[in-house]
Amino acid sequence: MAEILYGKNAAAAINEALIRETEALKAGGTNPTLAIVRVGARGDDVAYERGAVKRCEMIGIDVKKFELAADVSEEELLKVIAEVNGDAAIHGCLLFRPLPKGIDETRVCGALAPEKDVDGITAGSILGVFTDKNTGFAPCTAQACIELLNHYGYELKGKKVVVVGRSLVIGKPVAMMALARHATVTICHSRTEALSEVCRTADILIAAAGKAGLVDASGLGPDTVVIDVGINVDADGNMSGDVRKEDAEQAGAYSPVPGGVGAVTTSVLAKHVVEAAARAAGASL
Ligand code: NAD
Repeated sequence: MAEILYGKNAAAAINEALIRETEALKAGGTNPTLAIVRVGARGDDVAYERGAVKRCEMIGIDVKKFELAADVSEEELLKVIAEVNGDAAIHGCLLFRPLPKGIDETRVCGALAPEKDVDGITAGSILGVFTDKNTGFAPCTAQACIELLNHYGYELKGKKVVVVGRSLVIGKPVAMMALARHATVTICHSRTEALSEVCRTADILIAAAGKAGLVDASGLGPDTVVIDVGINVDADGNMSGDVRKEDAEQAGAYSPVPGGVGAVTTSVLAKHVVEAAARAAGASL
């Protein structure tokens, strides 16, 4: 049976370090603070926000919420972003997306100060991920995959990593992060031919397509380490990943859905806020 990579264990280790770092920053007069900007009240966003607030409170990070009506204008939203940028007491900003139709998401994301972009939504952050430089921050979910592997001692160096999915939120950044850690990386997507054959070459498979059961036994070897990012909810409300659970259980290791990558994401968000606060204070962690 495969080793199960529980997100809560990786999250607990991150949280523990963050509590100490937050205390140290507070002792030096800096209160790490996250702004949450939410337009409307989509169920997913509200649930994620609840988890993020709880995690921040537990670590000692302050949260300032900006809740905007679903029909807010682009100009109003840009004013809020400008307020976040101009408030020296705010160190990081989580902006829920997608934004409602009619709002230019690229313009709004681009307006956020790169140093406060704790979820990797600005061009500066993406550039940082692609150049492996400390400009901005990586998207939290992509980094959560790396944190989970680190926590369980799976090194990326020299390994064959197959990423399924090429979005700018997960697939592309996680592929670049694995590459920066000296993995040999293959990126698959909706037009990839013979997906199972490619997946089967992986030492580490990162599945982020959003298609339930897309990868099954034919794409897994007995030692494959599976990081399943997919969140798929069926008509009965059951949640599953992109990799068939019964088949992942026969691989080398796998992260469950729920309880895997998703459980690490808010801790990564908190980690980025603390790091942004430390950078702003000129402190090194
Ligand atoms: P997306 O729809 O933007 O991208 C999906 C990618 O999968 C695309 O690049 C597409 O080419 C690829 N793809 C689709 N069908 C495919 C197929 N049949 N074969 C191969 N590739 C295929 O989605 P996203 O925002 O990158 O999210 C991916 C998944 O991760 C979703 O299920 C999402 O809910 C989940 N997610 C999880 C977390 C978490 O915390 N665990 C956070 C964000 C998103």
